[in-house]
Amino acid sequence: MNLVLMGLPGAGKGTQAEQIVEQYGIPHISTGDMFRAAMKEGTELGLEAKSFMDKGELVPDVVTIGIVRERLIKDDCINGFLLDGFPRTVPQAEALENLLSDLDKKIDYVININVDKSILMDRLTGRRICKDCGSTYHLVFNPPAKEGTCDKCGGELYQRADDNAETVQNRLDVNIKQQEPLLTFYETKGYLRTIDGQQDINKVFADIQQLVGDLR
Ligand SMILES: [Zn+2]
Repeated sequence: MNLVLMGLPGAGKGTQAEQIVEQYGIPHISTGDMFRAAMKEGTELGLEAKSFMDKGELVPDVVTIGIVRERLIKDDCINGFLLDGFPRTVPQAEALENLLSDLDKKIDYVININVDKSILMDRLTGRRICKDCGSTYHLVFNPPAKEGTCDKCGGELYQRADDNAETVQNRLDVNIKQQEPLLTFYETKGYLRTIDGQQDINKVFADIQQLVGDLR
């Protein structure tokens, strides 16, 4: 079961990834984890990636692909993998196709958890934090009993600067623009499956189970 998971910030990708990994026993391979592991192990590619990151530069695709290769040939990927956060661009997706074909593997599905932008805005801007005790609330999903006030300590609730509408909107727009050509690429390849991420999280996972049920 070789899967790529896609979705915008707030779409619930993390929650679904956890459930997929637990249910199917395949490793969750996120870009960040992969880089950290390669650097920790001190592989040649890991050190090369580190030299770019230390300079604050983007790691070139050829290095990234090499690290993905090192990860995908590990024993725990024999029955499959869940890629998350990679590929990010069409050239990376093309390189992944070549790499997998080299390894005699192929992607089964690219699962895109789709949620309307307006709903993502609500999800991502609704967080409120208590300035006294740090408890977190959400205006829609976990509202305090009294508006603007912490249930636990009566402290004042505030919104983090990262969660304000303008910042969130910009972040979403950047991600949408980056994701679009990748979705088109995978649609053309016939791998793309869109899951309705606006449903209850259990229903979202049920839809994923139904989709991958015929894979081994
Ligand atoms: Zn509080």
